[in-house]
Amino acid sequence: MTEPLVVLKDVNKHFGDLHVLKDIDMEIGKGEVVVVIGPSGSGKSTLCRAINRLETIESGTITIDGKTLPEEGKALAQLRADVGMVFQSFNLFAHKTILDNITLGPIKVRKQKKDEAEKRGMELLERVGVAQQAQKYPAQLSGGQQQRVAIARSLAMNPKVMLFDEPTSALDPEMINEVLDVMVGLARDGMTMIVVTHEMGFARKAANRVVFMADGQIVEQNTPEEFFTNPTSARAQDFLAKIL
Ligand code: ADP
Ligand code: MG
Repeated sequence: MTEPLVVLKDVNKHFGDLHVLKDIDMEIGKGEVVVVIGPSGSGKSTLCRAINRLETIESGTITIDGKTLPEEGKALAQLRADVGMVFQSFNLFAHKTILDNITLGPIKVRKQKKDEAEKRGMELLERVGVAQQAQKYPAQLSGGQQQRVAIARSLAMNPKVMLFDEPTSALDPEMINEVLDVMVGLARDGMTMIVVTHEMGFARKAANRVVFMADGQIVEQNTPEEFFTNPTSARAQDFLAKIL
């Protein structure tokens, strides 16, 4: 594997009595694309949120590019900016134009000048295919377009790694591919990505590795070809039988 960019060591998290992350060890190399799959409630979202410090962890360590995530303050904001996150719901600012949605973070957190942020913002909107919509408001766009804007907004911060938590599961079927295509493009351009998705086509096309989680644990992991054709654990076999 290439030099690890994201390293989780012995990570544990409870919600009350519920042990949602159990001794998670994981390394994601620079430029690697990891797809995380598993039954609902297995801890996939919590894992993403822990990597971004939207959730605290009780034990273990998470490092991004050699830096351990700080608890709070400016250092946390900086480090979080290195980790882009795209959720199921697009979470765009409803009262700001598409272009303003993209430039807000770079101007506030990265201290970019407005014209510079707008130039780069337009390039990113071009890249995800929504440059025409730059002056519109989120509600005027389709779900697929809004999710592509959300991806562009994360990219505007120049993240070192992008997390996607079921980015297409709230979309109408005909819009899923336009979002997945953008993600495949990102993967091909060398972005380090952790993607929670049940879109097996994406996993086969873009993932270097599939990580299967159940009950807060990594049960098995393998290349997509191996995992989909020869899952070794009974839990993964059961799960695949249900979704394929
Ligand atoms: P997944 O994304 O794999 O469906 P989650 O990480 O969302 O799983 O949730 C893992 C478990 O933790 C589930 O049982 C869920 O109900 C529980 N959980 C998630 N977030 C919270 C929370 N904020 N408070 C209490 N329980 C939670
Ligand atoms: Mg989830």
